[in-house]
Amino acid sequence: MDGRLVAGEVKQQVVQHVQQLEKHGTEPLLATVQVGDDSASASYLKAKHKAAVEVGIRSESHHLPADTSQDKLEALLGQLNTNPKVNGILVQLPLPPGLDEEKVIERIIPYKDVDGLHPINAGKLAAGREELVACTPKGVIKLLNYYKVPVAGSRTVIINRSNLVGRPLANLLLNRDATVTVCHSKTPNLSGMTRTADILVSAVGKEIFQIRGDHVKPHSAVVDVGLTRVDGKLRGDVDFDKVNRVAGYITPVPGGVGPMTVACLLENTVLAASIQIGLKF
Ligand code: NAP
Repeated sequence: MDGRLVAGEVKQQVVQHVQQLEKHGTEPLLATVQVGDDSASASYLKAKHKAAVEVGIRSESHHLPADTSQDKLEALLGQLNTNPKVNGILVQLPLPPGLDEEKVIERIIPYKDVDGLHPINAGKLAAGREELVACTPKGVIKLLNYYKVPVAGSRTVIINRSNLVGRPLANLLLNRDATVTVCHSKTPNLSGMTRTADILVSAVGKEIFQIRGDHVKPHSAVVDVGLTRVDGKLRGDVDFDKVNRVAGYITPVPGGVGPMTVACLLENTVLAASIQIGLKF
């Protein structure tokens, strides 16, 4: 499953939505906030800004020093919340030690929360009302849809229970009538679970963790969200060559879920803008 290809299609649709918003007097603007100088965060943000420019979304970046206080960071979010020109707010995670991530996420006004992590947005999703949904899980669903992988009635196993990936993805799949099992580091007999999965999503990202060919069900769909660096090279959770011989569908790393995450951020930005002006696409 080619994430670059599908992300390209999502971006084309975002371009059209940007044009519709402009016709209604709104030029969508995404504000990003980085605290500290983590190089991975900086490169993710660079990619997000570049992608925004490509689809005609304006973006502005706010870069604060690593020793920024909680109050100062929340004050900036307060300003972005009330600035009518700003349609989407993204705080790049993780934050430096000492800052309370949960409080920061909750400080973003829900209808500008383009990462979909605010408890109001996560709660709506859990209640079956999808609005601003976390970008990576949303991207996984779009990939499965594009390749017509049957989700309704499927047995799906997710290895991850974070607020960023596993929990929202479980809800998205549940909303689409999959039977979902969420696994994590305390799950016994993990491979016994993964072998039963029609759809397997792995999001662990540890060098020692690997999904091998004998861990997956023949002809299943395997989505690799995990990211780790081995000898300087980016790698996923899945042994691509071996699993590719068993699975019916598989995502590569890079070029799988990563581009979808960025495309869904852009989609969430135009969606946030449309919610703010009461426009339905
Ligand atoms: P996280 O909060 O650290 O979650 C990791 C999950 O893996 C946890 O649920 C953890 O279980 C589980 N886990 C760890 N070791 C395990 C093991 N041996 N067996 C089974 N489960 C195990 O990280 P995250 O933020 O969700 O991200 C997960 C991965 O996805 C990372 O590699 C991240 O870089 C990647 N990611 C990629 C994208 C993308 O766009 N490609 C986007 C987001 C994240 P516990 O809950 O029990 O600790």
